[in-house]
Amino acid sequence: MYNCMIIKCLKMQFDFFLSIFLFVFIYFVILLIAKKIGWKKKKVVENCSNACPKCNQSLNRIPRKKVDHIIINLTFRIFEFKRYKCSGSENDWEGLRW
Ligand SMILES: [Zn+2]
Repeated sequence: MYNCMIIKCLKMQFDFFLSIFLFVFIYFVILLIAKKIGWKKKKVVENCSNACPKCNQSLNRIPRKKVDHIIINLTFRIFEFKRYKCSGSENDWEGLRW
């Protein structure tokens, strides 16, 4: 009876870690797919290798924010995210691209 409870407890712990592992694994696979399909990748147009997704004007590099470093670490540094800002004066676009 006592042994049985220990085994049950161990099994629950195992299930717990297994589900965490599965969750992280699935998250990692989703990140790899995102990289493969070019999620947040620099937009290339005829005359610009890094164009604004809104207006196709060139983007300017700006310093990363604290939250960017958190995002970079949360995505296991798969993406080399850099923060950019649109050079156009209208609808200011700002965000991360790699
Ligand atoms: Zn723009």
